[in-house]
Amino acid sequence: KLVLGIESSCDETAVALVTDDRRIIAQRIASQDKEHAPYGGVVPEIAARAHAERLAPMIEAVLDDAKLTLDDVDAIAATAGPGLIGGVMVGLVSAKALAMASDKPLLAINHLEGHALSPRLADAELAFPYLLLLVSGGHCQILSVEGVGQYRRLATTIDDALGEAFDKTAKILGLGYPGGPAVEKLAREGDAAAVPLPRPLKGSGEPHFSFAGLKSAVLRAVESGDHKPADIAASFQQAAVDCLIDRLEKAIAGSPAMPSLVVAGGVAANMTIRSALEALAQKHTMRFVAPPLALCTDNAAMIAWAGCERLPLNESAPLDFKARPRWPLDPDAEAARGAGV
Ligand code: ATP
Ligand code: MG
Ligand code: FE
Repeated sequence: KLVLGIESSCDETAVALVTDDRRIIAQRIASQDKEHAPYGGVVPEIAARAHAERLAPMIEAVLDDAKLTLDDVDAIAATAGPGLIGGVMVGLVSAKALAMASDKPLLAINHLEGHALSPRLADAELAFPYLLLLVSGGHCQILSVEGVGQYRRLATTIDDALGEAFDKTAKILGLGYPGGPAVEKLAREGDAAAVPLPRPLKGSGEPHFSFAGLKSAVLRAVESGDHKPADIAASFQQAAVDCLIDRLEKAIAGSPAMPSLVVAGGVAANMTIRSALEALAQKHTMRFVAPPLALCTDNAAMIAWAGCERLPLNESAPLDFKARPRWPLDPDAEAARGAGV
C-alpha cells in the first residue's frame, strides 16, 4: 500500500510518498526559515501564504519524482492539527481535493501522532508498547505508546515546550531563528558547568516538565555580561538534559517496565540529548530508538507513515473534517489537566 502525506502545520511545507512496508518512495520539504527569520519566529499569516503557494507544485513534483500518479496511491494523509490553523487548512483542503478527485480515502492525521509513530517508520523492530519522549517546538510530553491511536500521557510541560526554550535561548543569545541547531552548535565550544542554571521541577513527585524558569535564568545570565555565549549555550543544554533525564527516571519508576525508550520530535535531533537518553536506556536495560535526524523535525514522511499505520483501521475522514488547532493525543489527560488535576 502507498500513502501520499502532506504536512503544513508550522513552517515546513512537505509532501511524501511512503509504503506500508516502510519505504520512503519520494519526498520534498521546503522550509520557510528565510521568510520568518527577520521576525525571530514563525508568523502565521506568512506561513499560511507560503504553504498555499508551494503545496500544489510540490505534490506534482513528488509524484513526478516517483514516476507515479494519484491512481497509484491508496490513500491521502494530511496533518489536520494541532498547529497554526491557516497552514493546517491549506494542507487539509489540498488533501480533500486530491481525495475527492481520485476517489481515494482521506486520512486526517494528528501531527503529534506523526511524531509519535515516526520511530516505527525507521525501525521495523520497534513494537508497541514503548515509552516515548516527545520533544518538539510546541510540546514536551512523556507518553506510553500502546498502539496506533492508543496514547497514555504520563507527563507534560506546565509552561514552555523544550523546543521553545531552545528557540528563546537562541534569540536571547542573538543566534537567530530557528534556534535549536544554532544553540547545539555553539554549545560544542562551551563549558556546560560554567553557568549555574536551575533544573526546574527536578526531584518533584510527578514527572512533569517546566522550562520557563530556565529561560529566564538564561536571560539573566546573558544580561549579567559575566559569561561567554558558548558557556551559556552549553550550560543551558546541560540543564535541559538534566531535566529530561530526571523526569524520565520518575516516569520509568512510576510505570510498568517497557522494552524501549524512544524519542521523537524536532528536539530529538539534538545529539547531546540523544546520547544522554541512550545512556539512560542502557541503565534500565531498555532498547533506545531515535529516528534519523530528518524524521525528527517536521516532515511529511511521518504523516504518510501515520497514514500507513491507520490504513488497517479502515476509517477514512469525512470530506468536511474540520482542522483542529488544538488536538491532544490523550484527551483524558488533557481533560484532567483542564479540571486542575
Ligand atoms: P509541534 O510538533 O509541537 O507542533 P513543531 O512542529 O514546530 O511543534 P518540530 O518541527 O517538531 O516542532 O521541532 C522544531 C523544534 O525543534 C524547534 O523548537 C527547534 O528549535 C527544535 N530543534 C530542532 N533541531 C534541534 C536541535 N538540534 N537541538 C535542539 N532543538 C532542536
Ligand atoms: Mg520548522
Ligand atoms: Fe512538529
